[in-house]
Amino acid sequence: MNFDSLAVLNQEIVDCHLCNRLVAYRESVTPQKKHKGEQYWKRPVLGFGDAKAHLFILGLAPSAQGGNRTGRIFTGDASGDFLFQVLHQAGYANQSASTAMNDGLQLAGYYITAAVKCAPPQNKPTPQECKTCSQYWTRELHLLKNVTAVLCLGKFAFDAFWAYANKKAKRKEKRPLFKHGSSYSLEGLPMLYASYHPSPQNTNTGKLTEKMLLEVLTRIRH
Ligand code: SF4
Repeated sequence: MNFDSLAVLNQEIVDCHLCNRLVAYRESVTPQKKHKGEQYWKRPVLGFGDAKAHLFILGLAPSAQGGNRTGRIFTGDASGDFLFQVLHQAGYANQSASTAMNDGLQLAGYYITAAVKCAPPQNKPTPQECKTCSQYWTRELHLLKNVTAVLCLGKFAFDAFWAYANKKAKRKEKRPLFKHGSSYSLEGLPMLYASYHPSPQNTNTGKLTEKMLLEVLTRIRH
């Protein structure tokens, strides 16, 4: 990875104000009762991880009370609690908790980021916001030279990656039906894997279990 370029890119991301709606929302978020008195990040949330990552994990967007509070993606919310618990089991993280920027979490072999860097209302970015922000995660991917697999968490990230693959190949191939555990070999790109998003709507209902996500991560590792 070219650290200089990533540092430049990260600076560009945290200073970004391209989406008026998301800028207004991220800055308007007020702390939940349990986080009262905490200083919220309220800026675009950067990706992070291993400089020699072979796996690139793409999520949706930071949550208002999670990444938008802590400043680190999948950190400080229920989705992150589930995700890092499983990543730790799979040997991809030194600890199962992801609570704050300085919590000692270290990622081994992967880099994690989001398709949209600012917290959206109801966790729903618009197609235009997704398109505008895609310049950032695609540049992150480009800078990580050892990546051989991309894991998209949820249909939104999967759609974003598929659109990128089509654009890169100058084609308009219809996206396949989004299916947990599916994988695709795309010319000139890392192997693409799909998983349900680890949001409480999925994990609390059993739609996504730890075992299901672990199976996908194990396949990627092998
Ligand atoms: S979502 Fe992305 S493009 Fe839009 S303001 Fe945030 S960082 Fe910028």
